[in-house]
Amino acid sequence: MKEKSFPHTLLTSLVSIGEDVLDSSAEVLRTLGITGKAGIVCDSITRDLAGRKIAEVLEEGDYQADILIITEADMANVEKVREEAAEAEVLFGVGGGRPIDVAKYTAHLLNIPFISVPTAASHDGVASGRASINVEGRKSSLGARVPAAVLADTSLISSAPRRLNVSGAADIVSNITAVNDWYLAERIKGERVHRVAAELALLAARRLLQCRDLIRDMQPEGVKVLMEAIILSGTSMAVAGSSRPASGAEHLISHSLDSLRPSPGLHGEQCGLSSILTAYLQGADWRGIRDFLEHIGAPVKAVELGVDEELFLKAVTEAHRIRPERYTILGDGITLKAARRAARATRIFQA
Ligand SMILES: [Zn+2]
Repeated sequence: MKEKSFPHTLLTSLVSIGEDVLDSSAEVLRTLGITGKAGIVCDSITRDLAGRKIAEVLEEGDYQADILIITEADMANVEKVREEAAEAEVLFGVGGGRPIDVAKYTAHLLNIPFISVPTAASHDGVASGRASINVEGRKSSLGARVPAAVLADTSLISSAPRRLNVSGAADIVSNITAVNDWYLAERIKGERVHRVAAELALLAARRLLQCRDLIRDMQPEGVKVLMEAIILSGTSMAVAGSSRPASGAEHLISHSLDSLRPSPGLHGEQCGLSSILTAYLQGADWRGIRDFLEHIGAPVKAVELGVDEELFLKAVTEAHRIRPERYTILGDGITLKAARRAARATRIFQA
């Protein structure tokens, strides 16, 4: 493989959030010291939303740019991009999820920088160093590149389906229970909490709670607040060197749901809902989380995700098996009786 001279960046060094930020794509490459060819990873929708525009801006700025279309976030698409981008010095990932995951992971394999261009603020993966890739039919969270830059066009993102952006806000608010679990693991298992990472993750969640009306309205101004929180959350994971500050029992329950039935809801929707129950189990302010989610229009009842009581409770009672090394309030599993009581007390189900 060609020797590349770009060091692995721990933290995102350039963040541009606002209207028309894609116009600065060539300038961003220059600031990062990138001179060569760019690969722009899109799906067929995000190519039209932003991919072509970035290619045009880069070409006007004397950069060569290839649009690389993917269909899924799986190893076959990673291999395809890896071959097509063999000469590239940078990869853009343009999308809500899949193109970003593929670009992020392929950039890691090629040891070149990755630039994240979210077209929706649907989860905190748009600014994290982990990629969700399907490996042999199983969704896996793989270590990848932290984006060297994030370019978030707030008017583009605010015109994304509202449900996607609301889901992103719910994902960030679930940091509250994730951090509670981290401190619990410190007390019970002697795991070390990285204080700065924990504070960054909480800061992201608190910021959304403070700006609840802006988030509910999801206009460009609210999208800006949400994107800043998403980047803070991604940074918290980069600082921690793991997803710990943004992933506790609520994420285990969401993954458990995914394993029982293919994608009942969006990642953030499931994590937000599960965060209400997790906060209840932790003795934390579950009402505050529930009120916020209800205010912004995120699901607060399992029925809104098409999940019945039996399936949800099965997911909760089996969640501790998803990632046994990650200690959470679920411990070595909670009983069906306790799960049902918690789900009813928090009105995830009506008794
Ligand atoms: Zn998440």
